[in-house]
Amino acid sequence: MYDYDDQNIFAKILRGEIPNRTVLETEHTLAFEDIAPQAPTHVLVIPKGPYVTYDHFAAEASDAEILDFNRTLGRICQETGVSGAAGGSGYRLISNAGEAGVQEVPHFHVHIAGGRILGRMLAQEG
Ligand code: 5GP
Repeated sequence: MYDYDDQNIFAKILRGEIPNRTVLETEHTLAFEDIAPQAPTHVLVIPKGPYVTYDHFAAEASDAEILDFNRTLGRICQETGVSGAAGGSGYRLISNAGEAGVQEVPHFHVHIAGGRILGRMLAQEG
């Protein structure tokens, strides 16, 4: 059902074949700056395992991977300063999946965007 392409860009980043600006790395998770930031803070958080989308990750990742991913995601919201609890003005988490979600890279990832007012949640297209 889930067909993971190990030649995708994030798989190459995880193998060290492409450089990245790492924000935080844990046993199961890597966070790095988006190469084309759309906000003053724009970080991508990915599991190290071969998962395509959020539902793939939620269904097949181990409890340890899911816990590590979620704790890391929250930690980065605080450590980058975008969280209100950290004095920031807030943030948005986005995870695009598949064609309708306009997913460019087929390795599950969550965008953390913040540092400016981000506008409406969805573009009014289609
Ligand atoms: P998607 O549309 O799949 O949710 O978003 C993929 C994101 O990956 C985009 O925001 C894009 O700028 C980012 N991206 C694509 N290639 C690279 C890369 O080689 N390095 C980094 N750091 N980000 C990338």
